[in-house]
Amino acid sequence: MSVCSHCNSKISFMSVLNTPNPLRLKCTSCKSPIYIDKLSGGIAALIIIALSVFILFSFYGVDNFFFTVLIPVGLTAEFIYFMLIKTGLVKVKNNI
Ligand SMILES: [Zn+2]
Repeated sequence: MSVCSHCNSKISFMSVLNTPNPLRLKCTSCKSPIYIDKLSGGIAALIIIALSVFILFSFYGVDNFFFTVLIPVGLTAEFIYFMLIKTGLVKVKNNI
């Protein structure tokens, strides 16, 4: 289980959703930065982004693209990344 190294609270989906940088989250409890391991996090982010872009291009031009494709794909991508962090496949740096 991945937790914040400062306050030990669980990393929430909101901290993944709210970050502009997938390798640097912000704890929703204590507001401390949570650093993600560059190797596992970088690989996961790249694969997820590549898949998302592929899906977005496949559906490009459909009606209501923003709501029917962009938002669901974006949320799914964030959720997959969150699950990878939660399960520990993507590691959190604990000693900063
Ligand atoms: Zn915290």
